Amino acid sequence: MKKRILALLLLAALLTGCAPQSPAEKTVFCMDTVMDLRIWGREAEKAAQVLEEALLDLDRTWNASSPASALAALEAGEPVSEEVQSVLDRALALKARTGGAFDPQLYAVTEAWGFFSGDYRVPSQAEIASALAVKKYDLGGVIKGYAGEKLVSLLSGLDVDRAVLNLGGNVQTYGSKPEGEPWVVALQDPRDQGRELTVQVTGAMAVVTSGDYQRYFEVDGVRYHHIMDPKTGCPADSGVASVTVICADGMTADALSTALFVLGLEAGADLWRESRDFEAVFLLTDGSVYATPGAALSGGEYTVISPQESGKNP
Ligand code: AMP
Ligand code: MG
Repeated sequence: MKKRILALLLLAALLTGCAPQSPAEKTVFCMDTVMDLRIWGREAEKAAQVLEEALLDLDRTWNASSPASALAALEAGEPVSEEVQSVLDRALALKARTGGAFDPQLYAVTEAWGFFSGDYRVPSQAEIASALAVKKYDLGGVIKGYAGEKLVSLLSGLDVDRAVLNLGGNVQTYGSKPEGEPWVVALQDPRDQGRELTVQVTGAMAVVTSGDYQRYFEVDGVRYHHIMDPKTGCPADSGVASVTVICADGMTADALSTALFVLGLEAGADLWRESRDFEAVFLLTDGSVYATPGAALSGGEYTVISPQESGKNP
């Protein structure tokens, strides 16, 4: 009898062990967007709580329009924390790396177009010129990527197996699936052509997309989106509808996605050729798709960007 009970207990334990573990899930509203956290592991519930608090804290710190933010303190000449200073330094280094296409000091330009208040408008040339002369920080182009990095470091201090963090279109993965298969991340099709494009990543990776469909308004049939060309102070018009960057470093991925959107396919491909330390997928406004060889893109026709060619149409 004892043996039968033991056998039954063993069977039950085995079955529980085999059952797919369900994740702790949390939805967080912050940074003007909806974030979905899915975390697996013994401390998944605790991790979801810790991550939510970290996200809300980052939102308070980096909200360029809030008088309570670290950016407001900076404007007022007050000291900022080491962490804030290091994010600002990294942002300026990314500005240099991208030849200024990613510019973390475009607050006044974005504000002139109404993207902070929601009172959208097309500013005059004179307004744009004076906004371009103002150097005020807006880290909106990298902060979700930085958040991904920070959440990964918090997860690594907890008893957690794996996680998929959807930070308002930026996807940050952590850990591996039980069988070791890669994470499959879907890319939004900007003009909704019915394609189901996906990329595959393994381990902790940031998959970050910048697109002209994420925030925009229309006047007389013209679309004015939220990614500014620092050279003109107007929404970038580079023939790109969206760019996805895949990179282990979240903040770099985020800055590069914004920069490649501004630069367009040819200059963007050249930037990739310089270092090849990230992967990218360009979805152009004409519907065509270009991807770097390591992007592991599937679900549609695309042209592979050549590592060699330079200065020519990839
Ligand atoms: P993303 O969605 O990461 O491309 O970031 C877009 C956000 O970054 C905008 O909503 C602005 O707050 C800010 N931004 C706009 N244009 C730029 C730019 N050229 N460089 C850096 N940040 C920008
Ligand atoms: Mg970005």
